[in-house]
Amino acid sequence: MTTVVTGGAGFIGSHLCEALLDEGRSVVCLDNLGSGRHENVTQFEDRTEFTFLRGDVRNDVIPQLERVGVSPPDVRRIYHLASRASPVDFDDYPMEILETNGFGTRNVLEFAADVGASVVYASTSEVYGNPDVHPQPLDYNGNVNFRGERACYDESKRFGETLCSLYEGKRDVDVRTVRIFNTYGPRMRPDDGRVVPTFVRQALDGADLTVYGDGTQTRSFMYIDDLIRGLRRMMDRSGLAGEVVNLGHTNEITINRLAEVVADLVDRNIDVVHEALPEDDPQRRQPDLSHTRELLDWNPTTSLETGLDRTIAHFHEAEVDA
Ligand code: UDP
Repeated sequence: MTTVVTGGAGFIGSHLCEALLDEGRSVVCLDNLGSGRHENVTQFEDRTEFTFLRGDVRNDVIPQLERVGVSPPDVRRIYHLASRASPVDFDDYPMEILETNGFGTRNVLEFAADVGASVVYASTSEVYGNPDVHPQPLDYNGNVNFRGERACYDESKRFGETLCSLYEGKRDVDVRTVRIFNTYGPRMRPDDGRVVPTFVRQALDGADLTVYGDGTQTRSFMYIDDLIRGLRRMMDRSGLAGEVVNLGHTNEITINRLAEVVADLVDRNIDVVHEALPEDDPQRRQPDLSHTRELLDWNPTTSLETGLDRTIAHFHEAEVDA
């Protein structure tokens, strides 16, 4: 039995591959290395249970698997994570993002329908846009600017969810959807543009922390290990076809406060500079976890300080090694 992780060389995907390998599973990491990095998975390549496949979900999945000697019917599980997800990529790669989440998700679901595999689809809190309901429950349909700077990502992830619900209803594919809220941890790209790697890199370099807008906007930050536990539980539990959950932390804080916490942990006297707030930057974000707790008996357990400490240590080591 083989598990395919699309986007497996990315930040989240590589942690997932590692956790699956550690529980003895055979894993194929399919990644086009657009935003993922081969170095995230090279450490697994001497494991016989691991296959790296440089490919693209925008193309048919079966010939790509066959090219690396994987028998398609052996694939029983697919975690579909492939997509650029950083706001800095939305401006540079909008068509690629639309195609990956549209054609790519359709290709993955077609493949799952052909071989009878189960799918966990990585959706996002971005489906809620700049929310006017708080915290965000699953039945909230969101407030998305479908022509704005984030539209290529937000709308294509929403379209992906529509595909999932159609393939579940019309083609009987066992597909489960997770809406992932802000996640951070080791292996994020330092130049990824998202707030945690940016602040950590700036703090380690003794540079000013760039807070966008007045810094009163909030996010709720989840450490990667908690997310991986949630993703696996969503796949492992039986009887969840068609289900949707939020996965995120509930410790909502302002970006100003995050800057203070990072500066304290790095233990340096660091200033903040304010820069322009990007268009459609959500003002508040926090998941409503009631359904997640009911369905998965899951809660995030890593505190922000603990998770940031581990992330800072990782970035520090990477800087020393460079
Ligand atoms: N942000 C910031 N400085 C940075 C990068 C991001 O103040 O250098 C802000 C950004 O405007 C947003 C929040 O931090 O309000 C989280 O941004 P991120 O890109 O990490 O994720 P997302 O906006 O997708 O939640």
